[in-house]
Amino acid sequence: MSITAIVGANWGDEGKGKLTDALAAAADIVIRFQGGANAGHTIVNQYGKFALHQLPSGVFHSHVVNVIGNGAVFSPENFRDELAALEQAAVPRPRLLLSERAQLVMPYHKLFDAYEEQRLAGRSFGSTRSGIAPAYADKFAKTGFQLCELLEADSYLADKAAAVCAVKNTLLEHLYHQPLLDPAAVAATLREYRELLKPYIGDSFAYLHQAVREGKRILLEGQLGALKDVDFGIYPMVTSSNTIAAYGAVGAGLPPGHIGRIIAVVKAYSSAVGGGEFVSEIFGEQADELRKRGGDGGEYGATTGRPRRMGWLDLVASRYGVRVQSATEVAFTVLDALSYLPQIPVCVAYEIDGEQTTDFPATPRLKKARPVLKVLEGWNCDIRGVSDYHKLPQAAREYIEFAERFIGVPFSSIGNGPRREHVIRR
Ligand code: GDP
Repeated sequence: MSITAIVGANWGDEGKGKLTDALAAAADIVIRFQGGANAGHTIVNQYGKFALHQLPSGVFHSHVVNVIGNGAVFSPENFRDELAALEQAAVPRPRLLLSERAQLVMPYHKLFDAYEEQRLAGRSFGSTRSGIAPAYADKFAKTGFQLCELLEADSYLADKAAAVCAVKNTLLEHLYHQPLLDPAAVAATLREYRELLKPYIGDSFAYLHQAVREGKRILLEGQLGALKDVDFGIYPMVTSSNTIAAYGAVGAGLPPGHIGRIIAVVKAYSSAVGGGEFVSEIFGEQADELRKRGGDGGEYGATTGRPRRMGWLDLVASRYGVRVQSATEVAFTVLDALSYLPQIPVCVAYEIDGEQTTDFPATPRLKKARPVLKVLEGWNCDIRGVSDYHKLPQAAREYIEFAERFIGVPFSSIGNGPRREHVIRR
């Protein structure tokens, strides 16, 4: 079984990027199978520090073929900018394959994202305004562009641009009261994209089908986390795609039975961006302190720079996330950020309407949930640089093992610092 998936069990930003970067070194192919340029992996390596929004994490390894799967929505502008950033940092030119069936994120998708947020005002989704939801909406309304359409004749592009603009302009005029789209300008943009993307567009299904037959080592790289999954997450405050490993079979066209190893990344505390339910959330100074110490240089959005919402480890949500991912193992990350705490609360149940539950409910019940906290002992010393599990302070091991027992899936690695080598294998 040659396919491994790395996916998030929480709200995203669990530290998947670092792990993927490390595992990509041993892979032949790394695939982004869902989402777009709305989330970011932060990767620190010998070339510098990078926020990858859309490119797969294998781009730092010249032997890896990096695939954007058919399940993704793809922004040519972000692609161009990210490639330029790599070039500037002297990263060797990555090998890339863009699925001919992936959907285009058009500039008007970004506009519609912003207009809709404005229209919703106080009830907005906290979108990153990168056009992801409008692009997926068009995919399912069958008014989107697959990348392969860019390779069609100019007249085809002009006709389709005109048809799409007719619908978009009705909304722009009557719902959003914004300037209308010019079909000729949209067609011109499509022709520019053709020039930029032609060298990379291909039949990724056929390529991956063959790769599986040849036993190539394939890595599926998830974006965001289980709690942002459009079906299983905190709907409607979710992303517009499925963030679960199973979707790798759809979003890349891989045989489901071959996804044999599923690593769910669980962070040792919680963070979230945007609105939505977050039962173990903390506020004020307590949150500021954890935010400052989290991740690499604080918990701020890799794409937006927004301060993330903070909370204690939520074992109810994390176990659900791990189950939704069908994880075969857990990577437990950013344990080092908790080292300043003498005692560490963790959420072990929800109280809903006066009753306790350890099952993660759908949104209407989740809104009523209050965290039931258990306080564990802290270790109160620096654990970065420890590479042997048994050399961790006893309280740190007890914290890890408490979470592992609750979640019920083996923790195969512990992250204790932002760098690639800051990982303890078990
Ligand atoms: P992703 O979207 O899941 O890849 O998460 P990000 O990479 O955006 O966020 C994780 C942040 O934590 C990044 O800044 C990483 O460099 C950093 N990070 C990852 N693992 C660890 C860890 O074990 N300890 C610390 N301190 N930072 C980590």
